[in-house]
Amino acid sequence: MSESYREMWSQLGLNLEAHDALLSVLGGAYGDIYLKQTNRPSAMGYFDFVMTEVHGLRVKELNDARAAGRKVVGSFCVFVPEELILAVDGISVGLCAGAEFAFDKAEAILPRNTCALIKSAFGFSLGKVCPYMESSDLIVGENTCDGKKKAYEEFGKLVKNLYVMDLPQTKSEPAKALLKAEYQRFARALEELAGKKITAESLKAGIRTVNAKRRALRRLAQARQADPAPVSGLDALLVNQLFFFDDPARFTDSVNKLADELEARTKQGQGVFPKGRPRVVVSGCPMAIPNWKLPMVIESAGAVVVGEESCVGERGSRWMTSEAGDSFEELLVNVVDRYFNIDCAIFTPNPSRLDQVKKMAWDNKAQGVIHYGLQFCQPYQIESGNVARELEKAGIPVLTLETDYSQEDVGQLKTRVEAFVEMIGKGEKR
Ligand code: SF4
Ligand code: SF4
Repeated sequence: MSESYREMWSQLGLNLEAHDALLSVLGGAYGDIYLKQTNRPSAMGYFDFVMTEVHGLRVKELNDARAAGRKVVGSFCVFVPEELILAVDGISVGLCAGAEFAFDKAEAILPRNTCALIKSAFGFSLGKVCPYMESSDLIVGENTCDGKKKAYEEFGKLVKNLYVMDLPQTKSEPAKALLKAEYQRFARALEELAGKKITAESLKAGIRTVNAKRRALRRLAQARQADPAPVSGLDALLVNQLFFFDDPARFTDSVNKLADELEARTKQGQGVFPKGRPRVVVSGCPMAIPNWKLPMVIESAGAVVVGEESCVGERGSRWMTSEAGDSFEELLVNVVDRYFNIDCAIFTPNPSRLDQVKKMAWDNKAQGVIHYGLQFCQPYQIESGNVARELEKAGIPVLTLETDYSQEDVGQLKTRVEAFVEMIGKGEKR
């Protein structure tokens, strides 16, 4: 990465030595996991470029935009509507961290039995290694699981600009009214931050931009239904991860180019792996950059990941926000309607997720589902029981895994995943 970025990182207050160490680990992992794959679509070249510049060029773009008066809003959850951020000409960035960094510092504040995703966000902040966090004019936390909602009380002491959004936990009408009230409050906070009013036109433009990103990701998801799979699960996951970082219009264009190439590959009967390779859907906790551990294990065991039933995956792009309506109020209701569909495990009860996991397995012609739960994540781990029972009833083999961000259990995961892949490859049920 260019030396010229060092001044920018230093101005952002990063700990340069720790940041160098992080980049070197990240670069090494990317080279080993991604660049050693063979037969990749050429359109992945753009995403490789974005990854090599993820702490460089994109951060510079954000800070150039801030210098020109735009605001950057960082968030941790797919419940934070990008449409509203765009409606004040803001820029939305994901802050969910997928690496084990400065966990010793995080564990001085949080109990050790906190999930890796939360600890990672604290570690990145305390270790001063995340240029996105340091470039955010507003950081939005959300009251989802107990771990997050209590952690934000502590996180608010580490950062000056935390805004906490309350979120419903059931799918009742009062819960929907809460979501609407919270999105109204968030819209006012954004207007105050940006010094701009949200109009029907600006909100409609924001909705169109985000829907276009989602449509492009839907094309990518559909292209993965082909056998042979035209793209690896690792590459598709990376695209879904970059959904939260890249410039929306450029990202949409690049995903559409990738989808064009994948559709052409399928027409010619070409795939990234040979036809008939065992196909797996991964369901569960979100995998933030650079958490590539499980798909790497699955694909090196001889299977292909054909879908992610997760917030970094289908749940982030599954529903469109309706563009119908001519007033702010009508369009805000559309935003609420769209986000209220999200079937994260923090909801109780949560039957639509169970239907969706089955649907994804069928649509993607997967022979099995691997449920991924982060250690200490109560919502997803407890719900994994319902997911497994529902899949078993439907005759779909399921493997339930619990892991974290460390590399210590890779050998153990490999053994379990290889046995599962061998079993589904023979068409056996458990
Ligand atoms: S899993 Fe739940 S809390 Fe996490 S990003 Fe998704 S919706 Fe938000
Ligand atoms: S829902 Fe689970 S993975 Fe997400 S922050 Fe909460 S405990 Fe962690």
